[in-house]
Amino acid sequence: MLAARIHAREDLRVEPLAPPVPGPGEVLLKLGAGGICGSDLHYYFEGRNGSFVVREPLIPGHEASAVVEAIGPGVTRVRTGDKVAVSPSHACGRCEACREGREHLCTAMRFLGSASVYPHAQGLFRERFVLGERQCYPVAGEVSLGELAFAEPLAVALHAVNRGGSLLGKSVLVTGAGTIGCLTVIAARLAGAREVTVSDVLDRPLEQARRVGADFTVRADRDAAALASPRHDVCYEVSGSFAALKSCVAAVKRGGIVVQVGTLPHEPLPFVVNEVMAKEIDLRGAFRWGIEFDWAVGYLAARRVDVRPLLSGQYPLADAVAAFTAAADKNRSTKVQVVCAQDRS
Ligand SMILES: [Zn+2]
Ligand SMILES: [Zn+2]
Repeated sequence: MLAARIHAREDLRVEPLAPPVPGPGEVLLKLGAGGICGSDLHYYFEGRNGSFVVREPLIPGHEASAVVEAIGPGVTRVRTGDKVAVSPSHACGRCEACREGREHLCTAMRFLGSASVYPHAQGLFRERFVLGERQCYPVAGEVSLGELAFAEPLAVALHAVNRGGSLLGKSVLVTGAGTIGCLTVIAARLAGAREVTVSDVLDRPLEQARRVGADFTVRADRDAAALASPRHDVCYEVSGSFAALKSCVAAVKRGGIVVQVGTLPHEPLPFVVNEVMAKEIDLRGAFRWGIEFDWAVGYLAARRVDVRPLLSGQYPLADAVAAFTAAADKNRSTKVQVVCAQDRS
């Protein structure tokens, strides 16, 4: 079977690996679709994602759907042939954060497709992988494997909205109209937001945001004035740009909430603490997700959330380099996925 492995910066190889065998409580999965995320792009184009450096070949990928090919002894949650969404999160279940029900803040987290630990937690861009049954969320009905691979990024957006508190009747700003930004628009509407504005520096992502329900869109680079007046109750900074965070701080009402969702560059930032103080802003972080993964699977399975407009393309795993290149071009792509093209023994 084939796996995509990042050896170093801009060195991704699709290589044969021995197929894994499921043990007790484990499931053998065949990749359905795997979404390429910003962190995967950082690993590929920079050889690192922030402070996490690729130190051995890393299989990227943490957004995936799959089909159950075989089950190990004792598995009851799924059956052979099931279509599943895959959770990449392995919290320890024992630390204080886990015991408080905030598993995503686990101090001993292994998150698949991440170089945050060494040996690295190998990811899901491979034709077959074995996971514990509790990582598998079986889904019936016609929802496609491509849609199901949105469970992870949708969970990120649902968690971000959750961190911003009740949205019923609220005016919302989302800075950044990539996949997570668009999914945050969808999640904010689900949560009852009265009005959603989205900003970005490219036209195509803003068109996507309108397609999934944004009421207003702003070219942040051309129309700074539109983001200068404090008129939003809750702002979500999704783009990972410091300028966008400053826009959120400017555009949020006095006493409002700013949720940081994107990862800002790692250099030291001149921070806007006085504005946070003087406007009495609640500045909150949103990191990954907890129970929201379960919600995301439910919304997708019932098509209460329709992510199909956000899927820009699917490439066979063997063409992973082309897929990564397409995913990095925000004038062309929102979400790009790799898929398991055909059976190989
Ligand atoms: Zn992701
Ligand atoms: Zn833990």
